[in-house]
Amino acid sequence: IVEMEKVSKWYGDFQVLRDIDLQVARGERIVICGPSGSGKSTLIRCLNRLETHQQGRIAIDGMELTDDLRQVDRVRRDVGMVFQHFNLFPHLTVLENLTLGPIWVLKQPRAEAEATAMKYLTRVRIPEQAHKFPGQLSGGQQQRVAIARSLCMAPKVMLFDEPTSALDPEMVKEVLDVMVGLAEEGGMTMLCVTHEMAFARQVADRVIFMDAGQIVEQNDPESFFASPQHPRTQQFLAQIL
Ligand code: ATP
Ligand code: MG
Repeated sequence: IVEMEKVSKWYGDFQVLRDIDLQVARGERIVICGPSGSGKSTLIRCLNRLETHQQGRIAIDGMELTDDLRQVDRVRRDVGMVFQHFNLFPHLTVLENLTLGPIWVLKQPRAEAEATAMKYLTRVRIPEQAHKFPGQLSGGQQQRVAIARSLCMAPKVMLFDEPTSALDPEMVKEVLDVMVGLAEEGGMTMLCVTHEMAFARQVADRVIFMDAGQIVEQNDPESFFASPQHPRTQQFLAQIL
């Protein structure tokens, strides 16, 4: 469902992505890790057109990502994204945050959008917070709202960029539990940048290690952690495990 072929990107003279080849099957769960500055965020931001690549090709569910600006809406609809900082609208209630896209972009009737929103709020275990504003919630609760908001758009692919790294330690687990639930339910294609290696072991079909804009190594979690092949991967894992 995700195809990247020889994708390269530069910021000025600096090459941030180097010949990235990545194929992700429908329903596959991918964890991406690697040192700071290795291009992880840039890679996943290229998949929903928050960044544009300069060489190679990217296709999402058969749709080639081109320079056509009209396409951006469609890509954003198909590819949900959850950020480190939750990016909720502070002046809207939780329920309004969840129904805005479905009502205005998907043209759903309000009642249907609200029913779907409540379903996902229940799924992330905070249905009782529906009428509060984001500022009245804890960080972990806000991140769960952000996940529910993405799910309300029924995306084909979900991207996560370090969704737990801005949270206080006691809130990391509640967000990871929701993500594990989503992963174990199956069906959703997930690409997740995270350093939560327990999460990677538990749910990833494949772990990808990036360094200096390249995919250096990828494997199923068991082999990846038990016998990393590349010295950079070994060094990285030694630092974080
Ligand atoms: P981290 O783990 O710290 O989030 P990352 O792997 O996500 O790192 P990126 O955010 O993709 O890394 O950044 C890769 C490199 O590109 C970094 O060296 C960064 O400084 C550079 N970079 C990122 N965004 C820009 C930008 N808008 N303009 C110029 N350089 C950028
Ligand atoms: Mg990043």
